[in-house]
Amino acid sequence: MNDSSHDYSFDTLAVRAGQERSQFGEHSEALYLTSSFVFDSAAQAAARFSDAEPGYIYSRLTNPTVTMLQVRLAALEGAEACVATASGMAAILSTVMALLKSGDHIVASLSIFGSTQQLFGNILPKFGIDTSFVAGGDVAAYRAALRPNTKLVFIETPSNPLTEVLDIAALAQLAHAAGALLAVDNSFCTPALQKPLPLGADLVIHSATKYLDGQGRVLGGAVCGRQPLIDEMFKFLRTAGPTLSPFNAWIILKGLETLKIRMQAQSANALELACWLETQPNVARVFYPGLPSHPQHALALRQQSSGGTIVSFEVKGGRDEAWRVVDHCKLLSITANLGDTKTTITHPASTTHGRISPEARTASGITEGLLRVAVGLDAVVDLQADLARGLKR
Ligand SMILES: *Cc1c(COP(=O)(O)O)cnc(C)c1O
Repeated sequence: MNDSSHDYSFDTLAVRAGQERSQFGEHSEALYLTSSFVFDSAAQAAARFSDAEPGYIYSRLTNPTVTMLQVRLAALEGAEACVATASGMAAILSTVMALLKSGDHIVASLSIFGSTQQLFGNILPKFGIDTSFVAGGDVAAYRAALRPNTKLVFIETPSNPLTEVLDIAALAQLAHAAGALLAVDNSFCTPALQKPLPLGADLVIHSATKYLDGQGRVLGGAVCGRQPLIDEMFKFLRTAGPTLSPFNAWIILKGLETLKIRMQAQSANALELACWLETQPNVARVFYPGLPSHPQHALALRQQSSGGTIVSFEVKGGRDEAWRVVDHCKLLSITANLGDTKTTITHPASTTHGRISPEARTASGITEGLLRVAVGLDAVVDLQADLARGLKR
């Protein structure tokens, strides 16, 4: 990767960007399991601490394995810089702590990850930061929610579990006109399917726990964006400490090498499963951006390279029938987690969205018959057989 005269493509960056070989010349990236680093002399220690000399000091600040992950993920997102965090929620909290202050306002999608909703709605108000939540995909509704003190617009697209697609370019323009930053939680698509930064977003946030690792092994998170923004975040992280561990960084770094082929294969499986679900008599509706029946299919095709890996569908008959499908699964894992090579199934109304009032849930379209499948690398015929058992009456 030393040829600066050549722009390497995504596939090459995924397996090589950021690699720093040690004196031993290892081919695979090394895992530096060390909390601290030693200096040659008192003078060198002083130079490192004063930033006069670049280098490692302590792994809460920086660690070579974590650095390799940050450089590689930044390359894949087309970002100037990236900072890794202990989890996806640590990435979101660090973004707010580093870039916002008391008196600032956030505009966020209503259908964001549950813990993000809790953080914005219940925890940040204690520190003088309020959030307005916007339902639906209408850009005008976001405009109406802006205030003079809005500093951050925060979205997830496609949404969970209804796979609603938001127009990243339009929302970036809207945020910038209001003097706010647009942050996109890109955990569902990853840069293999969607790159929010070239579309105008300022920050891309990841739960690396999901598809970046992709095999359900570790927790991790990251934020990508322009250097000055990431520098601010780094200042918060090195002091406050929600840093990524080198071991988790190493797992995620190796996960990135297979990210694109996993995402492409899982998306292809998801499309095939979604098409099949649309033909099932006991399925009332299928939500998948890759289907022509999806309301934002055209936007999804513009902004994503595939429909993604999440398929939701509504079973006729409500909760009893939906639970019947879940309880007849012998292959699909019954778990609220997603982003794994193993396909998972969830009943949102009684799990991930169970604490929302029934009225609010119905208003947001999360019905009692809704099921969410995060499609993995299992054979589609086997997934169909598993789901067909419970769908038959
Ligand atoms: C899981 C998830 C998070 C939180 O990530 P953790 O790694 O569990 O902290 C944030 N956003 C989205 C979209 C997620 O799916």
